[in-house]
Amino acid sequence: MIQVFRIFFSIIILNSFLFSQDTKTQRFIAITFDDLPMNTKYLEGGNQWIEQTQKLLNTIKKFNIPAIGFVNEYKLYVNEVLDSSRLKALQIWIDADLDLGNHTFSHPDYHNTENEEFFADIIKGEKITNELLSQKNKKIEYFRHPYLHTGNSLEKKKALEDFLKEHNYTIAPVIDNGEWIYARAYENAYNKNDDELMKQIGSEYVSYMIDKTIYFETQSVKLFGSEIKQILLVHANMLNADYFDELAEELLKRNYDFISLKEALTDTAYKTEDTFIGRGGISWFHRWSYTRKVDKSFYAGEPEVPKSILDIAEVESE
Ligand SMILES: [Zn+2]
Repeated sequence: MIQVFRIFFSIIILNSFLFSQDTKTQRFIAITFDDLPMNTKYLEGGNQWIEQTQKLLNTIKKFNIPAIGFVNEYKLYVNEVLDSSRLKALQIWIDADLDLGNHTFSHPDYHNTENEEFFADIIKGEKITNELLSQKNKKIEYFRHPYLHTGNSLEKKKALEDFLKEHNYTIAPVIDNGEWIYARAYENAYNKNDDELMKQIGSEYVSYMIDKTIYFETQSVKLFGSEIKQILLVHANMLNADYFDELAEELLKRNYDFISLKEALTDTAYKTEDTFIGRGGISWFHRWSYTRKVDKSFYAGEPEVPKSILDIAEVESE
């Protein structure tokens, strides 16, 4: 009997230790949104994009998040004509004093595009964003790779790095995740007017993102000995317009402070060498781990998007 009590009490002590570690660690995270003004399949623009943007940015303001949005300027055009409502959606980011970065003009895949063509697309993607930023005496500083494709050979990777450096760009690394799949599933449910399913996807999305965040907290300790300042990738979409509020609440419960991309990049972890030239658009943590030639088991435990969500999203795999 005494033995049983001993085990019981040691479990309680261990749990409270783990729990206190969890809640006392001060954590930092930068929030970055890709595919501005909006990544959507069913919302055709006009007032819908403006409404969704306002909804998302209300959350951003509520939590005082110094977020940055990465723009694809081709989305501002309808039949090659600049669309005033889509432009207005982007203006809302500027009016909210948020930063904007370049995600190329037309979202090409660097791995399937000639270098010069890709570089021209980056330059083409600066025009309106810089005009908007100039209202706040700012200009574009950050670049986010479409599909997180950074180059599938060392030469190609270096060529892009050199181009970005010459044009005063700072690369925005990131924790990748399956948020885009939940977002597709969410829009498909919206398109079927299935409110119940939307709710279910929304709440599963929030738990998945927290599990993913916890996974990278652990990977961070394994790789660097402590938790680094994280940079999260999500998209400007309907899912986040509706559920980023809940996700932000959960991040606060894990003691995250929302910081700017600039502040996150002061973490020396982002100076870690990255020689990854695989085809995939993977998290920078995995690139650093790959560069250090860690054992496969090092990556174990990463949460995956469940089959049920992949099916609703009509996506085959992550
Ligand atoms: Zn993108």
